Amino acid sequence: MDAQRAVLHADLDAFFAAAEVCRRPELGGQPLIVGGRPGGRGVVSSANYEARRYGIRSGMPVAQAERLCPQAVFLPVDFAYYRGRAEQFRAILGELSALVEHLSIDEACLELGPTVRWPDEPVAAGQRLHRQVRAELGLSVTVGIATNWTVAKVAADLAKPDGLRVVPPGQGAAFLAPQPVSCLPGIGPHAAQRLRELGVRTLGQLVQVPPYWLCLVFGRRAEEVHQRAQGIDPRPVVPEKRAPKSIGHERTFHRDLGDRSEVTRALRELAEKTAREMRRQGLQGQVVSVTMRFDDFTTLGRQRRLPRSAFDGREIFEVARGLAFELLGEWRCPVRLLGVRVSGLTPLAVQRSLFDPRPLRALRLLQTLDRLSPRLSPEDGASRWLGAGPGYSVGPTRLLVSALERR
Ligand SMILES: [Mg+2]
Repeated sequence: MDAQRAVLHADLDAFFAAAEVCRRPELGGQPLIVGGRPGGRGVVSSANYEARRYGIRSGMPVAQAERLCPQAVFLPVDFAYYRGRAEQFRAILGELSALVEHLSIDEACLELGPTVRWPDEPVAAGQRLHRQVRAELGLSVTVGIATNWTVAKVAADLAKPDGLRVVPPGQGAAFLAPQPVSCLPGIGPHAAQRLRELGVRTLGQLVQVPPYWLCLVFGRRAEEVHQRAQGIDPRPVVPEKRAPKSIGHERTFHRDLGDRSEVTRALRELAEKTAREMRRQGLQGQVVSVTMRFDDFTTLGRQRRLPRSAFDGREIFEVARGLAFELLGEWRCPVRLLGVRVSGLTPLAVQRSLFDPRPLRALRLLQTLDRLSPRLSPEDGASRWLGAGPGYSVGPTRLLVSALERR
């Protein structure tokens, strides 16, 4: 559900120029233009805010910039250096979320998990990003936060430089309405001009225009633009890095496992570890596989598809145990190695249902426990509380969870 999402758009301010000032602090406070030598035929790649005061913009011929501000410092583009700084920026973004889409060298959008709590968690994430980029890179970043990318991007554009702008759920349309049509991603200068000719200057006015009118300007994109102008944008954030095909853990035991109860205990631990790793990477999975190696080195494997994707160690454990017992029935102990693996991975999501809010609550609790788990004993899997089935005793975690639930 859109209202539950939290999307951050992060954009480094005047990136190339600011990065140059980082390594040459003596240039700070002066108009600075990256993109060529004075007298050359290049264009401006980046200009700091001191230079922008003279009307200088990216894409402008250097000769024109020179006329506007002859005293500016002109520097050539040093891509290798900027790429290195951009890598550091990526690393900071990666710490905030596994779902990061890089839009350009200095711009990215990222999505916080599906159970994010508005407004505290998105705002805290934005503030952390702001602080960390300043502290670790010596650069300023502007962050827009909303329930989807379009609104977050417009919020960031309006907050530049060094800003943080939050548009809470349900307020996207009202936030966009007074803005000029040209600020909406997807409306270029040509389309903005056509709209002005039709008397449409703001996004609020655009929303009032019948969609068939918009076809005159946007053709088949009319419906989409109409939606975006109301702050509706269901597109997911698509991480550039391919998600892994499977996630799992296996373990060779110091002493072979002699009976089913030992196998059960070991499987539970492997399933919990696997589920925790999946959640950490923002993933859930639908196919559970078990690998079992016996003391004579015979290795057997078996897998099963779940009716729906799972993110919970207990669910994975139960399927893994069924598979393991089938294998044990065909062979026999002792077991030398056990492995649990989950494939069919998709981004972590919960079906929100009015009638059954349990999956959402379960995911929230699991994620809270994941954050706490370094403080819990290694025996204490995150989902141990969820129910006392075989292999799941009710431990101290249960008390902790009831305390959390009451918050
Ligand atoms: Mg930028």
